[in-house]
Amino acid sequence: MPLHLIKRDKDESVFDLYAQYAATHSIPKYKMGDEPNDPHLVKDLILDELLLDGNAKQNLATFCQTDVDEEIHQLMDKCLDKNMIDKDEYPQTAEIENRCVHILADLWHSPESQTTIGCSTTGSSEAAMLGGLALKWRWRQRREKEGKPTGKPNIITGPVQICWHKFARYFDVELREIPMEHDRLLMTPEEVIKRIDENTIGVVPTFGVTFTLEYEDVKAVSDALDKYEKETGLDIPIHVDAASGGFIAPFLQPDIEWDFRLPRVKSINASGHKYGLSPLGVGWVVWREVSDLPEDLIFRVNYLGGDMPTFALNFSRPGGQIIAQYYNLVRNSKEGYRRIQQACLDHGIYIAQEVEKLGLFELLYDGKSALPGAAWMLKKGVEPGFTLYDLSDKMRAHGWQIASYSLPANCQDMVIQRVLIRHGFSHDMAKLFISDLKRCIEYFKENPVHKGMAETEAGGYHH
Ligand SMILES: *Cc1c(COP(=O)(O)O)cnc(C)c1O
Repeated sequence: MPLHLIKRDKDESVFDLYAQYAATHSIPKYKMGDEPNDPHLVKDLILDELLLDGNAKQNLATFCQTDVDEEIHQLMDKCLDKNMIDKDEYPQTAEIENRCVHILADLWHSPESQTTIGCSTTGSSEAAMLGGLALKWRWRQRREKEGKPTGKPNIITGPVQICWHKFARYFDVELREIPMEHDRLLMTPEEVIKRIDENTIGVVPTFGVTFTLEYEDVKAVSDALDKYEKETGLDIPIHVDAASGGFIAPFLQPDIEWDFRLPRVKSINASGHKYGLSPLGVGWVVWREVSDLPEDLIFRVNYLGGDMPTFALNFSRPGGQIIAQYYNLVRNSKEGYRRIQQACLDHGIYIAQEVEKLGLFELLYDGKSALPGAAWMLKKGVEPGFTLYDLSDKMRAHGWQIASYSLPANCQDMVIQRVLIRHGFSHDMAKLFISDLKRCIEYFKENPVHKGMAETEAGGYHH
């Protein structure tokens, strides 16, 4: 056939990507197209579109890991076919998950770290559901044995992450959340004790509070519960939500007793994809001892002739994140984690100090004692010509994403700005951040948008 008669319009791939039909028109958005497209082109068009997302390195609003080793990219690629639930097909992936559980149990001082039980999850949210369910089951079993009613379980928390609101609603447990007060932003033993009754399934301190980055005092709460048990006979267990702190305190604040060193702490959750340094999609929940996870909640799978207990809300789930978690634990070891987290903590302290020097802000968290980061508010009475929301918006124009939000009940009138520092951040980036912040404040000096708003700011919580 003469060359010019060959129908070329189907063979778009000889053209430059951006000269092809799909790039000069629109790719399907809400309905599937009829004909396939060049894979290379489609990938590039999607990547172009994704450039409109925020730049993860400058995202100081999230707790989640956004910067991973090249080796993790390679491992994730090789693990694309691994399904966590198929413990028969991928027994070695299951073995690696198991190693992570025991490493974490040891890191968190379980007295039975080699034999205790735990599992990976999609994140701390799923881990919290599992931890909460175990508390509910144990409480119900005890109540049934005593012949008492089991209709009205409650759980006591400080100002918590939304996953505990979900747990309470989805699993029919009354949430007794201790509200913040202006002079007390965290859970205290007195506030916990006030809320306990015989239907309390457990107390959940947060070790690294979402709003302020500080640790709730697990030891003080545990001591108060010991005393309470002596007086009343009621034995109330603790689950620690250590989504972030579980991978910070063991390296930076090893003397804080928040974990299984306290016998009352029966389970702990943490996010592998936060300060665990693994890519998005992995969390952990670990029980102090096997007996702390009620047998009824465990499903058993046979693999390799063995007996593999599983406890999860999901079925199929990617295995790569778990492999990446093991890589991180082995590659960094304790000293590697310590250096990484200490660097983050130092950058947070630096930012806090520089922000304080500006004279307009009052530090709510100086970055020193808990998670890497800082939080501040506008000083009472200052009239800088902007609200913290305006400042966040203006910083966005320089690429920075910083969260500004009002605190939850009873401090909704307090608006704060928070930065989190994660792996992948350097001292020079902290300096660039501060110089951009100064530039934005200067801009508002010349072009004020609000007057005297420091105390009357309003608005919702942005994560
Ligand atoms: C992030 C966070 C969660 C939720 O964790 P995911 O891993 O995002 O599901 C729960 N609790 C606390 C304290 C958190 O910081």
